[in-house]
Amino acid sequence: TYLYFPAMPWFGMDIGGTLTKLVYFEPRENNRRELDKETEILKNIRRYLTRNSAYGKTGRRDGHLQMDNVTIRGRRGTLHFIRFPTSEVGAFLQLARSKGMAALVNTIYATGGGAYKFEEDFIKEVNMRLSKLDELDALIAGVLFVDAMNPQECYYWAPPLPPHEVDSPPYLEAALSQYVRKPFDFSNPYPFLLVNIGSGVSMLVVNAPNDYYRVSGTSLGGGTFLGLCCLLAGCSSFEEAIALAASGDNTTVDKLVRDIYGGDYERFGLRGDLVASSFGHMCSSERRAKVSREDLARATLVTITNNIGSIARLCASNERLERVVFCGNFLRVNPLSMKLLSYAMSYWSRGALKALFLEHEGYFGAVGCLLRYDL
Ligand code: ADP
Repeated sequence: TYLYFPAMPWFGMDIGGTLTKLVYFEPRENNRRELDKETEILKNIRRYLTRNSAYGKTGRRDGHLQMDNVTIRGRRGTLHFIRFPTSEVGAFLQLARSKGMAALVNTIYATGGGAYKFEEDFIKEVNMRLSKLDELDALIAGVLFVDAMNPQECYYWAPPLPPHEVDSPPYLEAALSQYVRKPFDFSNPYPFLLVNIGSGVSMLVVNAPNDYYRVSGTSLGGGTFLGLCCLLAGCSSFEEAIALAASGDNTTVDKLVRDIYGGDYERFGLRGDLVASSFGHMCSSERRAKVSREDLARATLVTITNNIGSIARLCASNERLERVVFCGNFLRVNPLSMKLLSYAMSYWSRGALKALFLEHEGYFGAVGCLLRYDL
């Protein structure tokens, strides 16, 4: 019997505003015949991708996210997750060319704005045709597939004890320091709000696999966080911005309810430790003179995160949804934002809303593209 397979290698690619995400399917070598059929070029590409965890100056493989035993178009194999800055697409194409990619006639499924912007370059440099997919279609297909494949995919943050065993909700800092990560069973997910925090933010109401719409979004997203941290705190990478924020204190930057009231604003249940005015202290030159880079990075993170949290909460209550799933690379190595979102969702909805997170954060669009090989 003869089975038709789209030509290897199989890639799914999401060329975003900041990061390019590449998912590579490595077929399992189940017998010698299969192996012998693999051309030298394919072998080299496979070895290069799977034996390294850094490519060129800026490419990285997220080995901790690797998924084994995945089946696509009847073939078993492993998914590898690779990312590099979109500003380095040129260098990526050079590298792909030097590995012999241009000699393989191939189509790869791609999404994100860069699939349009760089289409010509892919043909010229590596002889690859980009077959373009809508980014939100790809995102949802990716979320549903990865979640079905990986029982540990979905999780949430909460205090170790259920809320009813605690007298009154602890103040923010105390609450966040207690939060632990817990698995969430996402096998009956619908309906839910999907909040993708990339360079910008999109919010989707998902009722069923093929029934969703974009309800809202904001341009104040991960790109804003990083851009402002570069401006205000002289950061030069996302990792640095996150590390600064983790050791900073936003209360030297933000004006809190207690700075204005001397305590809680009891009538409307606003506690003293809530931010009343983000960056509100920074109009004072004395305060500006004393503020640290860490504090500025922390205030930027809190401002961007809480703004996304409050838009998400309004959308969820408007649409009568109880589950809010956050994804996108802004949440990479960023437990602080996840805990803040968890606290905000549950505090402002009096426990009605649940914030959920996904292990593969920013890779769903690229996975959604890869799944086209499965059709
Ligand atoms: P996009 O598709 O718009 O590029 P992503 O989901 O990849 O969106 O998220 C991009 C955001 O992720 C950045 O704006 C930044 O906040 C954050 N981020 C996480 N890791 C990095 C990184 N290594 N370099 C740059 N930004 C990063």
